[in-house]
Formats: sequence, C-alpha cells, structure tokens
Amino acid sequence: MECPPPPVTRFAPSPNGRLHLGHALSAIVAHDLAKAGGEQFLLRIEDIDGPRSRPELADEFRRDLTWLGLEWEEVPAQSTRLESYAAAAEALKARGLIYPCTCTRSEIEAAGARPGLEGLIYPGTCKHRPPDPSRPAAWRLDAARALAETGPLVWDDALAGPQAVDLAGLGDVVLVRKDLPASYHLAVTLDDAADGVTLVTRGEDLFAASHVHRTLQALLGLPVPRWHHHPLLLDSEGQKLAKRRGSPALAERREAGEDGLVLAEQLRLQQFVLGT
Ligand code: GLU
Ligand code: ZN
Repeated sequence: MECPPPPVTRFAPSPNGRLHLGHALSAIVAHDLAKAGGEQFLLRIEDIDGPRSRPELADEFRRDLTWLGLEWEEVPAQSTRLESYAAAAEALKARGLIYPCTCTRSEIEAAGARPGLEGLIYPGTCKHRPPDPSRPAAWRLDAARALAETGPLVWDDALAGPQAVDLAGLGDVVLVRKDLPASYHLAVTLDDAADGVTLVTRGEDLFAASHVHRTLQALLGLPVPRWHHHPLLLDSEGQKLAKRRGSPALAERREAGEDGLVLAEQLRLQQFVLGT
C-alpha cells in the first residue's frame, strides 16, 4: 500500500481578539501533523473582518507561536487577496450560483427563519424577488442550484471519516458580505487552495462549514484537501473552554513568565491548565 504524502497544514487566526488555549491547541495540532512528515506548517492571518480587525495583534500571534516552540512559514494575509475573492465571486455570479440579498438580520428573523448549524437558516426571501439596487446587498450561495451542478459530493475528515455533503443545516450561506468582497467561507476556501494546503486542520466548531467549502471546491474547480477537525478543549466540568470567561490569553501567560514549551506539551497530552 502506498503511504499518503505528508500534509501541508495551516493555522489561520483572525486578529480580532487575542489567542487563547483553544487557538494554541489548533496551532499545535496543525504544526505537529505537518512536521511529523517533514512538510510545511503555514500561518495565514485572516484579517479581512474590517472594523473588528486589529493589525497589531498579528505580531502578538507570532510571538505566541514562537513561545509555544512552533516554527512556520507565513503566507500572505487575507487583506492582500481581495482581488482573487472578487474574481471568484464574479465567476459565481455569471453562472447564477449566487444571488443578491438585501435582508437585514431583523428581517431574516421576522421571516421566521429556523435555527441551523451556523445561526439562522436563511429563508430564501431574496431568491425570488428582483434586487433592490438602493440597498446594500450580500451575495448568497444558491444551494439548490449548486447541488444540481455538482451532484452528490463527499469529503473526508481524518477523525470523523467520510462525510456526504449536506447543505440543509446551513442553507444559502453568504459568500460575499455587504461590506467585503468575500465571507469567511469563500476567502478560506480560495486561500487554502492558493496556499497548497492539503490537510485543513481546525476545531470541531467549524465542522459544518466544510460542507460549504467542499461545494465551493467543486464549483470553482479547486483541489480537494482532507480535513482534520480536532475536539475542542473542555474544562473540568465538561464545558467548552471557549465559553469560559476569564481564561487568560496566551500573551498574558507569556508575559507572566509561564513556560510556553511546557504548556505546549500539556496541550499535546490534553492535560489542560486553565489558569485563574
Ligand atoms: N480565521 C478563522 C478563525 O479564527 C479560522 C479559519 C479556519 O481555520 O478555517 O476562527
Ligand atoms: Zn434577503
């Protein structure tokens, strides 16, 4: 049997908040999966979230990763890639695969939207009405049309196994935001392809998003990676750590003199030290 080639992985933090233990785990998982095979571990700063993005945090992230003993190669940040997002969006528009949506959040709520895997499932209001050019529009994936073009798709998670693409829990997600040339889904799919990522590693909280990303790969003719969604950190009461308040940022631990290499080993062994 042939051995699979070693994976190229990435850690893709958004500089709109400091890194915490969960981020450290994501970075370590991605780093170790690549380095075990002598391959590349990439860092990509996902900095297109307009007003929420704080550029100075990217330097803090680099210091945090160094402190954890990780080595990486940095690829261009998302803010340098807006043209590639716009070009892909134009191609999807030309094929009628995305449609403009001028709804506000409260209009979507008022339309009786059901909760889905990622917030409310868009009820499709704008799909069947002419666009109102006087209002700002986001562009949504026409999931039914996409599925008709791609046919059934599968994607492979290293831990959860093969997954049949199912967009029902997500609906017509936004691919182009009102204020940006891409949403998370479009940007991350294009970037992972551009960066040659062959194993997309991230927390289980983003598992459902991979159905969208696999669909976009099929529509845009992009290479298909494997995925590795790692379990999220839990505290001693079984609560998701991300929900727990007051857990110090990595930078605070670092500045307080904690040994990052020891913390990294604890995370590898899943022996979490939550701090106070
Ligand atoms: N930038 C995203 C975040 O910080 C992660 C994207 C990903 O790993 O796919 O939540
Ligand atoms: Zn709408």
